[in-house]
Amino acid sequence: MTDTTNSSAPAPAFPGGTILGYPRIGRMRELKRALESFWKGNSTEADLEAVAKDLRAANRDRLAALGLGRTDSSIPSNFSFYDHVLDASVTFGAIPTRFNDLRAQDGSVDLAGYSTIARGVGDKAPLEMTKWFDSNYHYLVPEIGPETVFSLTSSRWVDEFVEAKEAGFITRPVITGPLTFLYLSKPSDDAPTGFDPIERLDDLVRVYIQLLAEFEGAGAEWVQIDEPILVADIDADRADVLANAAKVYEALVAATKRPALFVAAPYNALDDALPVLKDSGVDAIGIDLVRGSVPTGIDLTGTTVVAGVVDGHNIWRTDLDKALEKADAVAALGATVTVSSSTSLFHVPHTLQGEEHLGDELLSWLAFADEKVGEIATLASARAEGEGAVAGALAEARAALKARAEHPGTNRADVRQALDGVEPGHFERSPYAARAAAQDSRFHLPELATTTIGSFPQTQEIRKARAAWAKGELSDADYEQAMKDEIATVVKLQEDLGLDVLVHGEAERNDMVQYFAELLEGFDVTKNGWVQSYGSRCTRPSILWGDVARPEPMTVKWAQYAQSLSSKPVKGMLTGPVTILAWSFVRDDQPLGDTANQVGLALRQEIADLEAAGIGIIQVDEPALRELLPLKKADQAAYLDWSVNSFRLATSGAKDDTQVHTHLCYSEFGEIIDAIDGLNADVTSIEAARSRMEVLPAIRNHGYERQIGPGVWDIHSPRVPSTQEVTELLQLAKDSIPGKQLWVNPDCGLKTRGYEETNATLKNLIDATRAVRSA
Ligand code: GLN
Ligand code: ZN
Repeated sequence: MTDTTNSSAPAPAFPGGTILGYPRIGRMRELKRALESFWKGNSTEADLEAVAKDLRAANRDRLAALGLGRTDSSIPSNFSFYDHVLDASVTFGAIPTRFNDLRAQDGSVDLAGYSTIARGVGDKAPLEMTKWFDSNYHYLVPEIGPETVFSLTSSRWVDEFVEAKEAGFITRPVITGPLTFLYLSKPSDDAPTGFDPIERLDDLVRVYIQLLAEFEGAGAEWVQIDEPILVADIDADRADVLANAAKVYEALVAATKRPALFVAAPYNALDDALPVLKDSGVDAIGIDLVRGSVPTGIDLTGTTVVAGVVDGHNIWRTDLDKALEKADAVAALGATVTVSSSTSLFHVPHTLQGEEHLGDELLSWLAFADEKVGEIATLASARAEGEGAVAGALAEARAALKARAEHPGTNRADVRQALDGVEPGHFERSPYAARAAAQDSRFHLPELATTTIGSFPQTQEIRKARAAWAKGELSDADYEQAMKDEIATVVKLQEDLGLDVLVHGEAERNDMVQYFAELLEGFDVTKNGWVQSYGSRCTRPSILWGDVARPEPMTVKWAQYAQSLSSKPVKGMLTGPVTILAWSFVRDDQPLGDTANQVGLALRQEIADLEAAGIGIIQVDEPALRELLPLKKADQAAYLDWSVNSFRLATSGAKDDTQVHTHLCYSEFGEIIDAIDGLNADVTSIEAARSRMEVLPAIRNHGYERQIGPGVWDIHSPRVPSTQEVTELLQLAKDSIPGKQLWVNPDCGLKTRGYEETNATLKNLIDATRAVRSA
């Protein structure tokens, strides 16, 4: 390094093994409980701070015990109270002006203010929440305008480093990079039309430079700057993105007071951004070798590469031999190699401890966060001291992998045969016109037919009954009766309101994926395998480990019971194959499309059984269809092909006079409109209330000929829209789509809503529909 503008010494060696980040919520979801208690006013800010401090200390101690070094910067400091992107907004003073009253004199916000920005208050909307790359984690979208004043207004990141240092650790602060931050931002309400947040890059970089100086002053030796945006194809011109990357990192490298810079790019391959980062002179580059492959045609001599060879996004035990081969292949390009997780480990649960119910066999195939840290320690030792030093661990991993591959459940003849028997005709239904005619004469539904998306409020009583049943305190028969009573209440309510197509309310479902995972073969569920979805909200993904089969009907008895209570059609309700995959941890030993088709076949059998039981309308939800869309444009066509096909395999056995519905939880589907058309559902409900039907003109222009239910109630808040408001939305919808093709429904299911707003809103929805019908 001959750069004379940089007074710092050559970068300290990067540790031999590390992780990009660790779960933040706590083994027992301590942070969730502390946050929710603070929000309810049952504890103070100091109480919350104390829980967080203990959690950070416990995490550091555990990571050190698992084999990461205490003082070599291998332990990441990546704590967040709610969301790491929100942390960046708050650190850089990028708080929307509607929250100005939350800021102290120095611009900072306390934890109450921070929570308000995340959750909203009164008529002040929170920051928008959206999916983080191709994961099921949600971040809060920064709002940036020409007026945003960037300045360091929080010392938390630095304080957390100092806190660790005082406990005897030199950790590595983890921060969201300036490119990712601005490309994920949206223009502030005050910004003029056409403004693009990336225009503020130079201003923001100045604050990063100040922050780096503070880290250096506090004694940080390395800082990790996450730039996953560099692996994604985004709307911006790639040449501009690369030019911005070069500019930013050359500027940060030239900063006179800074720790060594480690730029991490999880979730896919860096491709043409790799040479740009290398040439910028950053001290280490993190690449994802699970989703991306080993780069070719580049000389990495003199570059430290943090090779993400352990999957941070899934839970399978690592093939250590393959991981070592990948690390060697990167070293062969001239790089100095460190082994790491491919992404932060916050996408996987903390530990397998406590999951003994899964059985030794399945357990031996898995690695959650703590076990992955152990794998990384093994890999680092193998590279430093030779494989002989860890021969036992390598042999154990090989044996587990072999057992998994040879297990009868991962290769079932019956499932394979069923799949081999699938023919092109299994993906096709009759032409839509024939189906529509058959369905019309069966159901005689009015124009602007009204329905809901499936779930009704999951009340305390429902949860209590399920908990008691799980503990054995409520018998099977009593539980079943409790659920039937709930179904009867919900059906009666809908009849009284005057809805046209009813639902049974999904009271019996703990979760729209886990419910099916518990009834299908090839899945298992954890006891404590929670991962953060957003803020304090966690999900417990099921484990899809084997070939999928349906031993018996899963939903028929509930659907049949609900239908027996009404002369109106009650929709059968299923979760689609893509969503079942997206919200589970899915086997990585065969193409996702094969797994999706196995699930598709199981659902196809379920649909046949529902039909035989007299259910005429069946909804197959695919809210996650867009979530799995690959980050690289080049990969998208293949994904859309298998995902759409698996849905068609599930639904195309339906008879002409069976009306197939689907539901998607978002409205921005411009880029996948062909795929949505390709699902070939008779009726598709989508989210559209908040965006005021914005997407409908595009759907019309696409020539969409089937029926569509754009949501008229934003169910994310308890606010009750007035009849007038719903009427306006319906009229807006009719401006784009003929009334004959339109349905009237909420944006999504009502399980998180209460009965007060549900009753009031559904009444307004019906009144508005009647008004528009007769207008
Ligand atoms: N049918 C489901 C429900 O109503 C759909 C949920 C979803 O789209 N996430 O709850
Ligand atoms: Zn939804």
